[in-house]
Amino acid sequence: MIKLRKSFSIASFIGIGVVTVALALWYRAIALDALIEQETRGNTALARSFANSIGDRFLTFVDHASTLPREAILSHTETAAIDSRVRRQMKGTDVVKVKVYGLNGVTAFSTDPYQIGEDKSYNEGFSRAKAGKSASELTYRNAVYSFEGIVADRDLLATYLPIYHSETNEVAAVFELYSDVTPLVRRLHRAQLQIISGVVTILVLLYAFLYTIVARAERIIHRQTREQEESADKIKHQAYHDSLTSLPNRTMFLERLDEAVKRAKRTTRSFGVMFIDLDRFKVVNDSLGHDAGDRLLAIAAKRIVASVRESDTVFRMGGDEFTVLLENLAADEDAALVARRIIQSFTLPIDLKRSEVTVSASIGIAVYPRDDLTPERLIKDADAAMYRAKDAGRNRYQFFTEDMNLSALERLELENGLRKALRKEEFFLVYQPKVAAETGIVVGMEALLRWRHPEQGVIPPDRFLSYLEDSGLINPVGEWVIRRACLDVKQWIDEGLPPIRVSVNISSAQFRSEMLARNVAKILNDVGLNPRHLELELTESLLVENPDAAVRALEDLKKLGLFVSIDDFGTGYSSLNYLKQFPIDFLKIDRSFIRDLINNEKDAAITSAITALAHSLNLGLVAEGVEDLEQLEFLRSKGCQEIQGFLISKPVPIEELKARLIKDGHRLILTRDRAEPVSA
Ligand code: C2E
Ligand code: MG
Ligand code: MG
Repeated sequence: MIKLRKSFSIASFIGIGVVTVALALWYRAIALDALIEQETRGNTALARSFANSIGDRFLTFVDHASTLPREAILSHTETAAIDSRVRRQMKGTDVVKVKVYGLNGVTAFSTDPYQIGEDKSYNEGFSRAKAGKSASELTYRNAVYSFEGIVADRDLLATYLPIYHSETNEVAAVFELYSDVTPLVRRLHRAQLQIISGVVTILVLLYAFLYTIVARAERIIHRQTREQEESADKIKHQAYHDSLTSLPNRTMFLERLDEAVKRAKRTTRSFGVMFIDLDRFKVVNDSLGHDAGDRLLAIAAKRIVASVRESDTVFRMGGDEFTVLLENLAADEDAALVARRIIQSFTLPIDLKRSEVTVSASIGIAVYPRDDLTPERLIKDADAAMYRAKDAGRNRYQFFTEDMNLSALERLELENGLRKALRKEEFFLVYQPKVAAETGIVVGMEALLRWRHPEQGVIPPDRFLSYLEDSGLINPVGEWVIRRACLDVKQWIDEGLPPIRVSVNISSAQFRSEMLARNVAKILNDVGLNPRHLELELTESLLVENPDAAVRALEDLKKLGLFVSIDDFGTGYSSLNYLKQFPIDFLKIDRSFIRDLINNEKDAAITSAITALAHSLNLGLVAEGVEDLEQLEFLRSKGCQEIQGFLISKPVPIEELKARLIKDGHRLILTRDRAEPVSA
């Protein structure tokens, strides 16, 4: 930053100094010149009048005396006579001493008797005067022998003057007159001081005036510079940061990643890239609005930042995608730890002012070092790992492995294919029956979605549901499922088969949509189906995302007269308090508890507890994933009413189910003696 005031002050003081010194010297020079000139003129006149008054007799004495020894001159009668004459004549003038030299330079006369007889032939003033020119010299004396005796501290002007012979008109002797110019010199000094102080005062005032202007200019310049810097900083910040979360953005991420890769190649330290995608963000954004979506992202960003280590940097790539640059990884476990902390941070609900939601995060991690590593490759790998985490059921992290590149391509094809699937009627439903635990009589069937892919054959829902949800396609597809299931059960009844319920799985995006109850009502109406034949299966996690809203939505659905069950019960985190408030009809114990029921005491205990809970809340209980008779016996003994699982039947096309039921009189196995092979 420029220091205008400082530079100006330095320049000014140097300027003032130079001007003062130059002025002092210049003034002194001209003033002294004038003084010397004036004094010389006075002395010349004095010397002339003196020489004239004593005439050539005096010159003859000088000429003669200069050849005599000092004592002879001193004792010469003329000397005393001249002395008294000189003193008389010089009285009242400022002349304090008079000396006369012979042409040989010897002091023939002096009012200071000690100087008589001295040789001054070497003196420049003498030589000039001998040559016919007068010369003056200003000197300072501590003490001088004057007419009145010795006087101290004097400025004297010594003037050498030629004295001409009246007849020959040639230089006959040299006079030296000392005039006391002390008062003049002192006046001159005073004047010099006054002038200089006057000028310095003016210059200092001028400086002070200009200083205020310069100071102002400096302030303005500084302000402008600061503003420019700030706006440059702001522009830079905007270019490199995301305005919503204030996190560094994609541009910054790419730059940092580039640097990190270069650095990692030079050193042996490893680093990693983490891709984070919020699960079901689109659903929140679409159903609760963009403001809520923005708020959610800002809070999510804070949680991620709070979960990473100090050496890690979090970036927002856009949408609900975040990345983390993990520097200084000692082991892969470090990255896993960060990922776990991030996932953990999302277990608490997010307060969106008007509602509360819970979102989870799917995380992909790619870790250096690997061969031929480039930033592009790392991004691709972390991205592929992230999608694998999503595929595996979300809310988890996944390290990149080489086989993932292939699935990235598959994923792209899958997404494109899904867009066309509905139009091309590639979706179809299979049904898995639910039977009464005691009798084996079929009481319901669950509609499960399948996709007949033109090349890959039949694809199960786990592989494509997350894409349907993320793309928003779940709404039209979900609606198609409800309608198809209603049509199928209607036909079932119309065919005179014993009445059963058909249950349809509802995903969170559908549940959040305010249109759900209205759409279901319309479908029931269009199909002409009694709502007692329809059951909706909602997952526990979906309900606890926003329990208050869930209660309201459930009430709307219940008003239609249909059944509602909580699917995968035991895996979410619903509090008993909410469970009490949810207007529901059934709990479906999650498959994971049934699987090891016989061998795992904890699973058995949980299953027993859920059974007891259902009884006390007066809810129907369904066990899903029942695969063998031991499980069946256990569930029966606990009083579980309905059973579903491969032991009874795998999900099959409706025609196949009908054929088997007709054959078996609507019973499907159930005792050890009547165990039948499970249909494929
Ligand atoms: P879910 O609702 O819990 O469905 C039960 C899943 O467990 C089905 O898988 C079924 O085939 C499987 N299953 C049933 N009995 C057994 C058994 O004894 N052993 C084993 N190992 N598995 C059994 P599926 O059809 O692949 O469906 C998976 C999930 O996809 C479903 O879980 C459901 O949440 C979802 N889903 C299926 N169809 C739809 C749909 O139309 N809409 C929505 N939103 N979700 C659907
Ligand atoms: Mg289900
Ligand atoms: Mg289930």
